[in-house]
Amino acid sequence: MSCLFCKIADGSIPSQSVYQDAQCVAFSDINPQAPVHVLVVPREHIASLAEAQEAHAPLLAHLLQAATEIARSKGLAKGYRIVINTGADGGQTVDHLHIHVLGGRKMTWPPG
Ligand code: AMP
Ligand code: ZN
Repeated sequence: MSCLFCKIADGSIPSQSVYQDAQCVAFSDINPQAPVHVLVVPREHIASLAEAQEAHAPLLAHLLQAATEIARSKGLAKGYRIVINTGADGGQTVDHLHIHVLGGRKMTWPPG
């Protein structure tokens, strides 16, 4: 399986790397929606959160933990937003599970 984010995770497509470990990579979004906009992506190809299985629970926890560490490292002490767009109505455009970490400005609610 070799989708866009699989290729970024294996280094065959370049990205602005923020963090990586054995289970995930994180890089700057190419079209940032906030002063800080980082994507946290598992190395394993999972098409979306809806495709995640019970066995993925430790990996999902790891991704969230990585997201919070990245937010801390980026100095987002005043807060940030974690987003997982899921499926067409959820606004997902890349079919490889990813967590958006958005911060550096005041977020509004409800989202669009
Ligand atoms: P989503 O719409 O939730 O599926 O998010 C996909 C995100 O991937 C969007 O915010 C895009 O700007 C971002 N994106 C697409 N291609 C790249 C790329 N080559 N490098 C970094 N981010 C990308
Ligand atoms: Zn993939």
